[in-house]
Parts: sequence; structure tokens; C-alpha cells
Amino acid sequence: MARRRNKELLEFAMELGGEEAVEVIRALEKKKETTDEELAEETGIRVNTVRKILYALYDEGLAEFKRIRDKETGWYYYYWRLETKKLPEILRARKMAELKKLREMLEEETGEIYYWCGEEGHPKLTFDEAMEYEFQCPICGSMLMQYDNTEVVEDLKKRIEELEIELGLREKSKRKRSRKKAS
Ligand SMILES: [Zn+2]
Repeated sequence: MARRRNKELLEFAMELGGEEAVEVIRALEKKKETTDEELAEETGIRVNTVRKILYALYDEGLAEFKRIRDKETGWYYYYWRLETKKLPEILRARKMAELKKLREMLEEETGEIYYWCGEEGHPKLTFDEAMEYEFQCPICGSMLMQYDNTEVVEDLKKRIEELEIELGLREKSKRKRSRKKAS
């Protein structure tokens, strides 16, 4: 697997099941095809946890298994392997979902002017709402000021642009690059 692709897979595993999922994927990659018990032995992770991770990967389309019956004991063994064909598709879908969320956040931030007391966790009110409270915070009673969200908006715009470039929805802007060089 290409190194970049591998890095993305491990990042995805981290989100899915933390450090343990990363370990399971690493072991699975090394073994090519193996049982959950062997994976547990290899990684030192409890077999129940290994199974949970394997099924989570299976649900995402990133692992497959073969069920084989041992003729002597009659028991079934599950042989797992990594399936990365769908990885680009999965990663793209996730990035698209993130992009959608960021665009909605941006819309919310730019669509209205908010009033806020400045205290973390206290509500940001629209003009009409702020009027109702006579421009006093409904929680602490401090005066509500226009909430300056310039930084938040700039940050959202930057993250949206980066994602759009990553997804091939936008070309790298030349203006930005030359600005960077100048600073
Ligand atoms: Zn307040």
C-alpha cells in the first residue's frame, strides 16, 4: 500500500477505535490473513476488543472474513483480512460530510449578527432575542455586545478552502501562495 494511503488508513482507524484499532490494522497488514485469536495474541489486546474492531472495520467495508470449519473439532474459525479497495471512496465521503458541516457552520456565523456577554458557554443571541433581554445576558446579566466572529469566520473559510482543494473541488489559488511567500 502506498505510504500516503496507509497513513490515511491508520488515521481512520484511530478515529474508529483509537490506538487499539491501529494496532489491529498493523497486525492484520503484517499477517495478511489471520484469525481474531491470533490477532489478540499478536497485539496483546483482548479478543473481544479485537472482534469489536474487526466488525467495525467490516461495517466500514475495510475488512473481510472467511469462515472455515475445522473438520476435527467442528468449530468455525474466522479468517480476517484487510480490504482497502474502498478506502479512497470512504475517505472522500467522510471529507464531503465534513465539508458540508463546515459550510453550514459558516452560514450560521455569517447569516446573523450575534450578541454575547463574552462568557464561554453563555448564549449568543440574535438581535431580536437580545432586544427581548434588553441586551443583558439571560444567565449572568452582563451587557451583551456584538459578538465579533471575524476570527471564527476566517478559520472556517480557511478549513473549507483546504478541504475543497483536497477534494479537487477548487484549484489552489495563486494569490494565496504568493502572499505566503511575501510574509
Ligand atoms: Zn453571560
